[in-house]
Amino acid sequence: MMKHILVTGGAGFIGSNLVRELLKEHKVTVIDNFDDFYSREQKELNLKSFWRNENFSLIEGDIRRMQDLQEARNVDVIIHLAAKAGVRPSIENPILYQDVNVGGTQNLLEFAKKREIKQFIFASSSSVYGINENVPWHEEEKLLPISPYASTKLSGEMLGHVYSKLYNIRFIALRFFTVYGPGQRPDLAIHKFFKSIIAGSPIPVFGDGSTSRDYTFVNDTVKGIKACVDYEESDFEIINLGNHKTVTLRELIEAIENTCGKKAIINRLPEQPGDVPRTFANVSKAAAMLGYNPDTNLYEGLSEFYKWFKANQLVAHQ
Ligand code: NAD
Repeated sequence: MMKHILVTGGAGFIGSNLVRELLKEHKVTVIDNFDDFYSREQKELNLKSFWRNENFSLIEGDIRRMQDLQEARNVDVIIHLAAKAGVRPSIENPILYQDVNVGGTQNLLEFAKKREIKQFIFASSSSVYGINENVPWHEEEKLLPISPYASTKLSGEMLGHVYSKLYNIRFIALRFFTVYGPGQRPDLAIHKFFKSIIAGSPIPVFGDGSTSRDYTFVNDTVKGIKACVDYEESDFEIINLGNHKTVTLRELIEAIENTCGKKAIINRLPEQPGDVPRTFANVSKAAAMLGYNPDTNLYEGLSEFYKWFKANQLVAHQ
């Protein structure tokens, strides 16, 4: 059945990849304030192909403002991706991260309550696990965030629990694990590395290259999010959406070098506060509940990113 889905942050990286898939079956309204974390041009490019679809509309607005949210009418499902993203910048500006990620999420939950919107999907993050050697991480692990960003995501999950208990809003928090692919944010390692390696500039490598991440291709993440639109079995869930493989920084750089056929110049820097040494998802809950099956390997995913990067030189190179 066609639903009307409000996607917050839909002009961003994951959001725009999601909207493309949702529009195949649903009506979609995006709310996005074109936050200046990275260029407006990249976000406009993300939205470009949607304008000719009559089931697409955009509210240029802020999730912290109820008047902006109220422009969205007859919404069945909210997928909440808008946020101040990034671990390191959250250490510089923790109050702003709290304001957007926690205040904004609560405002949106208030909107859901007033409009009786009963399905709310929330973009959480693997960063909530913090430093935890007990990998692969299961959703029941102890959570000890080590950055302001991570703590705002954990607060979002807990706010969702409150609203699901008090107002019967079904709340599904999805913990994304380092998502990459076409349209990826320019602050993230894969995008930065391609850009610098191709330009012949040094790439910043924090630590000795042994840190590792569970890189998830965006189409896999999108399939997991989409499966939540019709999920009705329970009222509150927290689910990992990772790839269930962990890749060291060293291996990642080598794979990027092989993909673009050029050697990296390494600028070695100290480890960054707030960064965790390793992320690694147990995805058995997502598999059982959502039929989630991430099947894009790193080389396939990197080559999709590289195609997008080459085709959109002017925007992606900013
Ligand atoms: P993104 O920055 O590309 O997208 C976020 C979007 O939210 C942007 O388009 C931005 O303009 C918008 N936005 C920011 N503040 C807003 C506000 N106050 N009102 C309205 N819109 C606002 O980031 P992304 O990588 O696509 O991430 C999407 C979500 O997934 C975020 O919540 C992020 O924290 C989470 N996440 C991402 C990753 C990843 O690897 N990319 C990993 C874990 C979690």
